[in-house]
Amino acid sequence: MSRNFVDSIYLTFVNFHKGLFNLSKVPQSERTHIAFIGKRNVGKSSLVNKFICQDLVIVSDVPGTTTDPVKKSMELLPFGPVVIIDTAGIDDVGELGKKRINKTIKIISESDFAVLVLDSQLELSTAEKELFKYLSENSLPFVAVINKSELGINYKLIEQLNSNNINYLTVSCKTGKGIMELKEKIQKLLPSDSGISLMHNLVNKNDVVIMVVPIDTGAPKGRLILPQVQTIRESLDDDAIVLVVKETQLKDALDKLSSKPKLVITDSQAIMEVIKDVPTDVALTTFSILQARYKGDLTGFIKGLTEIDNLQDGDKILIAEACSHHAQPDDIGRIKIPNWLKSYTKKNLTIDVSSGNDYPDNLADYKLIIHCGGCMITRKTVQTRIRKAKAINIPIVNYGVLISYLHGAIPRTIEPFTEAISEWNQLKSQNKVTT
Ligand code: SF4
Repeated sequence: MSRNFVDSIYLTFVNFHKGLFNLSKVPQSERTHIAFIGKRNVGKSSLVNKFICQDLVIVSDVPGTTTDPVKKSMELLPFGPVVIIDTAGIDDVGELGKKRINKTIKIISESDFAVLVLDSQLELSTAEKELFKYLSENSLPFVAVINKSELGINYKLIEQLNSNNINYLTVSCKTGKGIMELKEKIQKLLPSDSGISLMHNLVNKNDVVIMVVPIDTGAPKGRLILPQVQTIRESLDDDAIVLVVKETQLKDALDKLSSKPKLVITDSQAIMEVIKDVPTDVALTTFSILQARYKGDLTGFIKGLTEIDNLQDGDKILIAEACSHHAQPDDIGRIKIPNWLKSYTKKNLTIDVSSGNDYPDNLADYKLIIHCGGCMITRKTVQTRIRKAKAINIPIVNYGVLISYLHGAIPRTIEPFTEAISEWNQLKSQNKVTT
């Protein structure tokens, strides 16, 4: 490698350590989410406050004091970073109450673990029995907690829990009894790490990986975006050598290397320029395809591509973005993808865009869902969204997979991923996709 080139790598490291990539905080999307759920007035908020050792949530004897979910990031030691969520009661009443219940159910479906809080003085209600059923049917790990234990415990409640084989703990927010045991219990029951990561099995020690990051009007000022930061960090964790370049510098960077890099990862939007510069014997993929494998379902998204060539005039497409931002004149979700899709299909399509938490209930109205990379939401949330689409047989793809397809860059960009490429080859042999 040339001296200048080594210097540029060194600068990348220096900037990294100066904190330019802001790795000091684990983002919420990478934390395990634990929801505290139950009826109104069972002491969920008091328990959350005790659990996080902070008066975060307003507590009162008035049922339904918590209306919107309240989230708090904390370190649950020795487990690691988590988000604790206090929720509205699942027995709320009235029109507003129904909306709050729906919100709570949504929070539960996107959480990794639930703490179901019960009142020590009462028997199990119908709402609580339904909640237990929901948790079991959705395979969500949980623990039942009998709160207000200082007042004594209704023996019928214990009987009901025992007869349903429900494991429980007793706590008192007044005395603090049982809180430590609850923390320990949760850590024992939390689902183990899936072992999946953005860079899983892609690079080894001293492999060179080039990341192509366009600095255009869509790039945030003064920082890299989360998937780029994570990809750099994971590559460094694997002892790979990372070189970050703009798309205009890629050819120069490749020429300066004394040997070929192991992998080039590009922003999806630059794939057409990048694919021309990367030798065919160098693996190439996109940040968004890495996200599809990490949080989504890369093979499922490849299957979703079969719908593109079947689209007809008037078909409705949903573009789902997982965070809200001020749309740019050349916004990827609102402008570029709709234009690329219409130009590829030559059809008059109706395209709706949802953003942030608003993943619509009327998914059945759409022929295809195009989801963003989902970098700002948890893997569980992305998985829940995919499951909802699959449950009603609506094909779903993500930005990276779709953009590569529309620009003829698949199979090149999915080549590093064995299952995805074999799915693609199968679909191709059945003429369900075009190259
Ligand atoms: S729209 Fe999606 S991929 Fe883009 S920043 Fe937001 S969560 Fe990440």
